[in-house]
Amino acid sequence: MTGCERVIALLGDYVSGELPALVRADVDQHLSTCPTCSAALAEYRAVVRLAASLPPPTPSPAAEARILAALRAATALPDGGTMDETQLEIALPASGPTG
Ligand SMILES: [Zn+2]
Repeated sequence: MTGCERVIALLGDYVSGELPALVRADVDQHLSTCPTCSAALAEYRAVVRLAASLPPPTPSPAAEARILAALRAATALPDGGTMDETQLEIALPASGPTG
């Protein structure tokens, strides 16, 4: 028997296809007989779809300043100096979300 609590806990991995086949079959079996969990699955999928449709978050200026400060510390030059922003942009090319 697969209980509702277990199925709900597994929904994330179920939707992303990460469950082992046997566990997935167990969840499928439960979903086919449990309207509560089927509804939860539909809601979960709707939330995932909505989240995927949102634009990527833009960091606030304060967050950007903290990130740059951390990068400067992490990329300190051997002579004790630090890279300026132009050098950082060359060293760390912008890489937006890939999809
Ligand atoms: Zn259930």
